[in-house]
Amino acid sequence: MNQQVAILGSTGSIGQSTLDVIARHPDKYQVKVLTANSNIETMLSQCIQFQPNKVVMADPQSAEKLKVELSQHQSRTLSEIIVTSGSNELANAVSDEQLDIVVAAIVGAAGLLPTLAAVEAGHRVLLANKEALVMSGEIFMQSVQRSGATLLPVDSEHNAIFQCLADTKEPLKVIDKILLTGSGGPFRALPIEQLEYVTPEQACAHPNWDMGKKISVDSATMMNKGLELIEASFMFQMPADKIQIVVHPQSIVHSMVSYVDGSVLAQMGNPDMRTPIAHCLAWPDRIDAGVESLDFYKLQNLTFDQPDYQRFPCLKLAEEALRIGGTAPCIINAANEIAVAAFLAGEIRFTGIAEVIRETLGQIEIIEPKSLDDVIKTNDYARQVASKQIENGTGNL
Ligand code: NAD
Ligand code: MG
Repeated sequence: MNQQVAILGSTGSIGQSTLDVIARHPDKYQVKVLTANSNIETMLSQCIQFQPNKVVMADPQSAEKLKVELSQHQSRTLSEIIVTSGSNELANAVSDEQLDIVVAAIVGAAGLLPTLAAVEAGHRVLLANKEALVMSGEIFMQSVQRSGATLLPVDSEHNAIFQCLADTKEPLKVIDKILLTGSGGPFRALPIEQLEYVTPEQACAHPNWDMGKKISVDSATMMNKGLELIEASFMFQMPADKIQIVVHPQSIVHSMVSYVDGSVLAQMGNPDMRTPIAHCLAWPDRIDAGVESLDFYKLQNLTFDQPDYQRFPCLKLAEEALRIGGTAPCIINAANEIAVAAFLAGEIRFTGIAEVIRETLGQIEIIEPKSLDDVIKTNDYARQVASKQIENGTGNL
């Protein structure tokens, strides 16, 4: 039987890589629901290729335009695709009990409610949208427990850790530490004093991975690794002091687990998100992902190093937020989203991103969130505070 798949954020980098893997296995997977924000050109070509039953565009105008485009096609299957819009519809579309797999690949806080809706529906949820877990932490994980959903990590590091954990019983007892690797991004070796002059274009040119703009900037500040540290802590229920960040510029080892007997297990592969995506789609089976296998004769050298906290203050802020707990991760995530958008819009300096996050974290009282509502309120408020900071000059050019 074909597995029925929905993709939240199908037009993005992860969404497109997912469809690339699915297209290789028409006997195994059937695309039922596709969603995006406003990119109708890519959505239209995905509709033509995959013929979903339903499409949700978060932006209502884009939904209207897409309907017109689809109705102009001769094919009945295309004109019969149901097109809706709005954020409630995103959540409704992935709650459908006919679905087997939901890929959560929206970027940022916008993915929280639809991702949680997929979890609540008890589906197999392939999580790329790390911000959703960072924001809501224990509330998210409790929802996974309650609903019986199967949460599988698409983020390459977390997927690697998941693979290295395999059947480990009592992880807290037998794991010495989780080694979370990160490339260090495009500015790992740039003279520190030049960091404040880097442009959005330079920040988005990652040496190893081809990704959406927001995560590319996060990789350049290493906030991505900070968010991943928090993601790993919640997903694998590991305290902060059991997770160590290791800089590995070649992005071949995607993370490791070190056990108390001295064994270290690593998961390796070429840096291509289709590998973790295929792993999650087929788990516990394996399928072809279209990724070239590693050629060890061509691997020059693999290097490992400590992170440079002076160069990457965002990493320190994320570590601090994880240690503080409560709404602190939600606050830094919100401030980071606002700051990255302002940097991409040419409003603040690259080094201003950390300044905005630090100021925002310092200004908001941290509480223990009791409900999703607390998380949403914190996120909204932290975004306002961060925007105000920028208006008042923090991080400005
Ligand atoms: P992207 O910007 O390429 O794509 C984002 C997708 O989300 C698009 O389909 C877009 O239409 C949709 N979207 C954006 N805003 C929306 C909104 N307000 N409402 C509804 N939909 C919206 O991003 P990406 O690089 O594919 O990353 C997606 C997620 O996966 C992020 O959380 C990122 O951290 C994570 N991730 C990405 C990679 C990667 O290699 N790209 C690796 C690991 C994790
Ligand atoms: Mg990652």
